Amino acid sequence: MHILIAEDHPSVAEAVVTSLRKSGYAVDQVQDGEEAEAALEANEFDLLILDIGLPKRSGLEVLKRLRSRKSAMPVLILSALDGVKDLVAGLDAGADDYLAKPFEFEVLEARVRALMRRGMAGGSTLIQHGPLTYDQTGRVARLNGEPIELSARELGLLEILLRRAGRLVSKDQLVSHLCEWGEEVSGNAIEVYVHRLRRKLEPDGVRIITVRGLGYRLENQDAS
Ligand code: CA
Repeated sequence: MHILIAEDHPSVAEAVVTSLRKSGYAVDQVQDGEEAEAALEANEFDLLILDIGLPKRSGLEVLKRLRSRKSAMPVLILSALDGVKDLVAGLDAGADDYLAKPFEFEVLEARVRALMRRGMAGGSTLIQHGPLTYDQTGRVARLNGEPIELSARELGLLEILLRRAGRLVSKDQLVSHLCEWGEEVSGNAIEVYVHRLRRKLEPDGVRIITVRGLGYRLENQDAS
């Protein structure tokens, strides 16, 4: 899962980036509203953490433009404690959730998880896919009830495939959801991650189909 944080306060941004990376998310940071716009036009993110008080272009403007492009990307806004008006304006402009500064990182992480869940399985914490279950809160995958060991990359890959189960996911989409900017991840590396994940899932009948030249698809599971 790839998160963009638009925050101009260096120590707040750094702490958020560090804490989210530790949890296995790919995180990129921009420091003003113009950079945020450019990043949002050029990349797909799974979540935007947006400070309202940004230089050059306010977070509110960035948010309004994002929604005017019909983007459904989840947005968590950050604002100073005395910025109640900003928070209300942000929610009215299409933000999904908010945090007032200063905040506890544990709370931020819980909100991030909650927003990510909404995009999957209608917000349920547990996703069932045949013999595979995925606990979105603890980020634990189980096959027939047995936890499986996955690297951070494999886990990220599985989350993306589960979010789009039955649908094609291109290699470019995988790179943009799994990797931070400047990370040199080739198509070959993606093939390696898919291969490793496949080896863990296929013995139990969970198949990742290669759509030659296009990408991958997590095979739908019959109700049987
Ligand atoms: Ca600010």
